[in-house]
Amino acid sequence: MNQIKPLVNSIANQPAKPLAKLTDQELEMRLRDLATKERKILHVILEHIKEFESRKLYLARAYTSVFEYLVKELGYSNSAAMRRLEAARLLREVPIVAEKIKEGSINLSQIGELSRALKEKEKITGAKVCREIKAELVSSISGKSTKETQKELAVALDIPVYDFEKQKIQQDDSLRIEITLNKAQLEKLQQCKNLTSHLLMQNFNGDSSWATLFEVLADQYLNKRKMNRKSSLAGAEKESLELKKASLGAKAASLEPETQANRIEMGGANSSNLTSIEMKDSHFSEIVFSACISSDISSGSIGGSSIGGSTIGGNPKYDSTSPISTPIADAAIHNRIYKNVTPLLRRTVLLRDGCCQFLDSLTGKRCGSKFSLEVDHKTSQWAGGKHMLANLHTLCREHNSYKYSLESGVRTLS
Ligand SMILES: [Zn+2]
Repeated sequence: MNQIKPLVNSIANQPAKPLAKLTDQELEMRLRDLATKERKILHVILEHIKEFESRKLYLARAYTSVFEYLVKELGYSNSAAMRRLEAARLLREVPIVAEKIKEGSINLSQIGELSRALKEKEKITGAKVCREIKAELVSSISGKSTKETQKELAVALDIPVYDFEKQKIQQDDSLRIEITLNKAQLEKLQQCKNLTSHLLMQNFNGDSSWATLFEVLADQYLNKRKMNRKSSLAGAEKESLELKKASLGAKAASLEPETQANRIEMGGANSSNLTSIEMKDSHFSEIVFSACISSDISSGSIGGSSIGGSTIGGNPKYDSTSPISTPIADAAIHNRIYKNVTPLLRRTVLLRDGCCQFLDSLTGKRCGSKFSLEVDHKTSQWAGGKHMLANLHTLCREHNSYKYSLESGVRTLS
């Protein structure tokens, strides 16, 4: 891929005559020349993006997608990155796109339209559109305007004409969004509107605008999530008692004799004092998190999510007076080996980390993705890694599979 250098050089070698001194004819010639070179560079960039994505190099740089890399690392706007990515992917399937871009008969906007139309078609039919049809569509939209392209694609694929979703931030920080809904989407939303009409009447003075409907639906969804999380945490509290009892045993063995006596007094009478132990250690989950955070805090990595009233990350509550939060006990919890990764262990790790912990080995950048999180063994089981908090961390699905592929020596290509 040494095509960029001569192109850049040839532009740099343009005569240094000030633009204002050029004749009209010279100015137009130079503009045409530069536009041609810009298209050639674009094509070369797309080829690079295509290869970069194939090799999944963004994963090593702690990004979950090439799109994220293009935006955050190379400074493209979201839409510019998306258009280039869509074009690079189309290039892989329909190589003729390269020539069309170079000759200027097809541009990134048209490719964006084509990608959206194909997705729409595949969503409707549930089947992939084959390469041959894609190549035909590329030929049919060549040399057309964006509007003409939209119509051409809608007719060829038998889908509704798609309009851009327009967004505009207004003076008061509100956002004006213009969207096009297909018939099915509109019917679903209309149904929601009918079903929530009593809420709109009660709480919004009968305001039945789309904005209010979206707010009502968003509130309901968020409340449902909150309730699910609460019930999940309640289950975790119950499970934590078993972990707690086990850790009390481990800790008692490592305490000074007099403290140990105190501990035994508190927790030794297995059944009769159980209630009082539960009372005293009702924040066991929090202490487990604190113990983990205390060892990881130096990396400054943990995001500040709030779970069940206890803060995870930021300023973790670390109760040094609590009998089970001594450094020795923390180490015991941190390094305790379990038979398997229980749901509680998994939740503890997810809550402790809050996001993907994958680090770019060159820059130290953390991935930080909060989507599709999985719990992974830092040292894999096949390499002797144990089921313990100290050896468990959170990775997003992309980085988990990337780590797996690195370890197995298999390069996973799409
Ligand atoms: Zn990640």
